[in-house]
Amino acid sequence: MSGTVAACPEPSVGVYVHVPFCASRCGYCDFAAVAGRDGEISSYLEAIEAEIDVFQGEAPGEADTIFVGGGTPSRLAPREMGRLLSAVRNRFAVARGAEVTVEGNPESLTAERLAGMEEAGVTRVCVGVQSLDDTVLRRAGRPHDGRGAVRALRRARRGGFESVAADLICGLPGEDLARFGEAVRRVVEEGPDHVSVYLLETDKDTPLAREVRRGRGGPQDDEALVSAYEAAADVLEGAGLGLYEISNFARPGHESRHNLKYWRDEPYAGFGLGAHSYLLGARRANEIDLDRYLARVSAGLDPVVWAEPFDGARRAAEAAILGLRLREGVDLAAIERRYRVSLREGRREAWERAEEAGVVEREGERVRLTPGGRLRSNELFAELI
Ligand code: SF4
Repeated sequence: MSGTVAACPEPSVGVYVHVPFCASRCGYCDFAAVAGRDGEISSYLEAIEAEIDVFQGEAPGEADTIFVGGGTPSRLAPREMGRLLSAVRNRFAVARGAEVTVEGNPESLTAERLAGMEEAGVTRVCVGVQSLDDTVLRRAGRPHDGRGAVRALRRARRGGFESVAADLICGLPGEDLARFGEAVRRVVEEGPDHVSVYLLETDKDTPLAREVRRGRGGPQDDEALVSAYEAAADVLEGAGLGLYEISNFARPGHESRHNLKYWRDEPYAGFGLGAHSYLLGARRANEIDLDRYLARVSAGLDPVVWAEPFDGARRAAEAAILGLRLREGVDLAAIERRYRVSLREGRREAWERAEEAGVVEREGERVRLTPGGRLRSNELFAELI
């Protein structure tokens, strides 16, 4: 293990580390995840250390956020979590007050693991609740029940973390959408600082999405989904967790600083299975097969298998779409200057129509979606950008 600090081509970055190990495979999952391979955790951590060691850049960079995502990072034992975070800290200059997030699932967020995370300097724990309905959770292949999820949130809340977050999915097969707001209220009672409400993606190639497409357990009609999302938003905003991104709500000051980098077109460096990086406007992604990832890194090879060179027009369009997801909206003129392209040329009429229809609003150079626009976001992105 080298003690050198990684050089990075950006002045400050978010560092993402992927931990792919899971108890079992959830029916809606299309992430880089493996079940039943915990025996390889140690080799994987060695590979992460080696991968960060070969990370090369042109100027020293500082990490101001670290996000350990998965997979199920809470499957790592305390000493393994300590090793992983030390790998980042020994190689990056980590900013004072950096946000350090770890994702976890209720069944493995034990008191011992939470204490280990705290000791390793984790400031933010994100609990994968997904639903509180046991039948829905079973059908989705989740290895925990609703009470277990509530208990995990409570344990995380009792720890000394600066922020506790809960993730929910709206529209899982069997979920009673008319009562979704009540489930969100129950989650809010445990005092999370941040709640994400994701809509189930039914266009993915996953067992659950295929089931929904075949009409089993859904599809939940769009109107019911919109009402459930609106009910969730009302409960969350009423409890002081304001919407700051289409799917994300937080108490003031508890927004995910790491995820804001993705939406604000800021750089990040990703390590581990399937991890993506965005540095100097270029995107790249790592190998997604665990055996091949481990083999490449142990042979001293770069695990990057996909890279997209800088393309100003493309980057500008992505920056605009990601920025429009934020309640604060996006400064389109700044993006156009940064990437030297015109985003609105040829689409002025579409922008005018959207403003007249009240789905987009403007404040100076900032443009944002209105609440009505957020419910039609994908359609609007296609029309406007
Ligand atoms: S816990 Fe998360 S990453 Fe693991 S299988 Fe389930 S959805 Fe996928």
